[in-house]
Amino acid sequence: MSAPAPGEPPRRGLATPSVALAVAAHPDDVEFQAGATLARWASAGCAVHHLILTDGSKGTWDAGTDPAWLVHEREAEQRAAARSLGGADGGVRFLRWPDGELEAGLRQRAQVAAAIREVRPEVVLGHDPWRRYRLHPDHRTAGWLVCDAIVAARDPLFFPELATPAHRPRALLLWEADEVNHVEPADEAGLAAKVAALLEHRSQFVTTHGITDENDADQLAAFAARQRARLVERAATVGIELGESFRLLDDL
Ligand SMILES: [Zn+2]
Repeated sequence: MSAPAPGEPPRRGLATPSVALAVAAHPDDVEFQAGATLARWASAGCAVHHLILTDGSKGTWDAGTDPAWLVHEREAEQRAAARSLGGADGGVRFLRWPDGELEAGLRQRAQVAAAIREVRPEVVLGHDPWRRYRLHPDHRTAGWLVCDAIVAARDPLFFPELATPAHRPRALLLWEADEVNHVEPADEAGLAAKVAALLEHRSQFVTTHGITDENDADQLAAFAARQRARLVERAATVGIELGESFRLLDDL
């Protein structure tokens, strides 16, 4: 199935890939934007891999936090979240660029291209760099990196120092899309896995999840309800109950 032409309504549902690679700026980005999709694919046999570009060392509002401790915590949280989605254990790679200072240079592009060539995904997922008025610099930069790295992974004369053969993914799904043209259906099990994965990111409860007391069952239920509401809203454009929306590029 090819992406719809400009002006056509969004379409839904790629065939389940055998291998998927999600490329994100920070721990927790993948789960917020594509968790239900990846969980559904994993349950159908897809090997789900994660590539996290920064170390997440600035992800707190508490100026007294030890950044080294935070990096350690967030990597452990990301590994647990990947397991909650059904990703292969060890399928999380960390490039550990300083949080907030990610650059779209050739070194970073080579690293992302190397991961694409090693994992050999059918589908790559990442941030949409064309999303307007996006504030966080790492999200913009991570979007450029994933797009540029696909070209470099695909064409064999890029980065000859890489020992791996070129690889052309079948599709790229950009989340938080500036112009949505694709919705991946979600199911209840995928939604539950997404919420469970997000709740592994305990260090982000205050800043990102809106949870001030992790022992407050009402706050946890409200968080889960917010995730469901987002999936309902995104799915409505294609007339289904639950889904996650993307920009699909499939002419790679
Ligand atoms: Zn982020």
